[in-house]
Amino acid sequence: MEKLRVSSYMIPVKLEKEEGKYMLIHGYTGAIDIVSEELLNDIQSIGEKNNLIQPMVEQLLKRGYLTTKTQEEEYSYVARIARALHKRDEILHKSFTWIVSYNCNFRCPYCFENRDKKDSVYSFSFTKDMVDRTYRVMEEIEPRKELLNHYITLYGGEPLLKENKEIVKYIVFEGQKRGYVFHAVTNGYDLDYYIDLLGKNLICQLQITIDGTKEYHNRTRRHYQDPNSFDKIIFNIQKILDANIDVQINIRVNTDNCNISDFSKLKEFFTKKGFFRHSNFRMYSAIIVDSNIILNQDKKELGILSTKDFIQKQKERGNIAFCNGYSAIYRKISNAILDKKAISLTSTFCAAQTSGYLFSPLGEIYPCWDVVGNKDYQIGQIQSDYIHWDKQRLEAWRHHDIVHRRVNIVNMHCSVGEDVWLKRITTAFIFRKYLKKQ
Ligand code: SF4
Repeated sequence: MEKLRVSSYMIPVKLEKEEGKYMLIHGYTGAIDIVSEELLNDIQSIGEKNNLIQPMVEQLLKRGYLTTKTQEEEYSYVARIARALHKRDEILHKSFTWIVSYNCNFRCPYCFENRDKKDSVYSFSFTKDMVDRTYRVMEEIEPRKELLNHYITLYGGEPLLKENKEIVKYIVFEGQKRGYVFHAVTNGYDLDYYIDLLGKNLICQLQITIDGTKEYHNRTRRHYQDPNSFDKIIFNIQKILDANIDVQINIRVNTDNCNISDFSKLKEFFTKKGFFRHSNFRMYSAIIVDSNIILNQDKKELGILSTKDFIQKQKERGNIAFCNGYSAIYRKISNAILDKKAISLTSTFCAAQTSGYLFSPLGEIYPCWDVVGNKDYQIGQIQSDYIHWDKQRLEAWRHHDIVHRRVNIVNMHCSVGEDVWLKRITTAFIFRKYLKKQ
């Protein structure tokens, strides 16, 4: 028989609540199993002695924990799978985001977009002409409707400013004719002007950022005129929920060391208001990352946490299921266990690596939300009758995955820095071992 060895992709996780038990996850077969410490020891010592009965060896080979492949063979096998998965994600689900406006009525300290356009007296918003042109560009990028995501995300600056109502209405109705629905990433302040544009076939999902209870939120997410934006946003949410509008509301709490304790208080506040009784209402905590693009002077106001501390602190507070990204991993694992299926695999973290396009009112095209407005990362420019692509940049972004982790690309991408970039991929969990070995 060929020589057996432990797969380089076996991930043993000690169970906290079951003494002497481990969960094994396999990085490329997607298998999950609970095993005793004794069995784990036998698996891990297979290179020196074989204490396992033959049917068990066969079962472990089938699940992937034992292998007859050499380490190099395993790496190249995984690289082949990863490339195929990347290709699949590149072809399927093209996703489009519109930076409806660069202007914004808030003054958040961690905002990574430059302020010159945000605070300007001039309008940097889409015009009808740009809307028509951008829909044409989208068709040019992907004419096959079956390969598109059927929603467009409205982003900013602040996309739902009251003065944007007419142009947003035009975007939504033109999009509806083409089979799109809309998501919006908003600060929620002017939402009351948009009630008639919310619904199943219109703007059907809202991501509203509230960074804590009233006092904290008002202090950090400052409206440029109103010192109490919190009450206005809560009033708007209440109005939407009371009207039973078919729109998913996701409250995002950007979290650092200064407001991590406030998350539970805000959760309690929403509970008392009865918001969680609505199935279309949820909230989550998202770690504020040390973005290179956050202005240096503003960083002093932030208490940026490492991912490890963020998870640990939220865990201590019983909020782990509310953590952005991590809750998705837990769901992924829990679904795999409950449905008795392998964990789904991915070799990329987000659409920036595959098929994401963000369009600005100035005709710029960016690959990623985190680099909006930063010319160094622009991948294209819409001209009057053609698109000028920066092919080198586009290529670099789209070839970034767990196989191609070239330093220049990491530097190029990262508003978030290499460390966080790796953690982001690591949060996908799959291929974690592979990353460690690279
Ligand atoms: S609301 Fe958004 S776009 Fe406006 S300042 Fe805050 S983070 Fe930046």
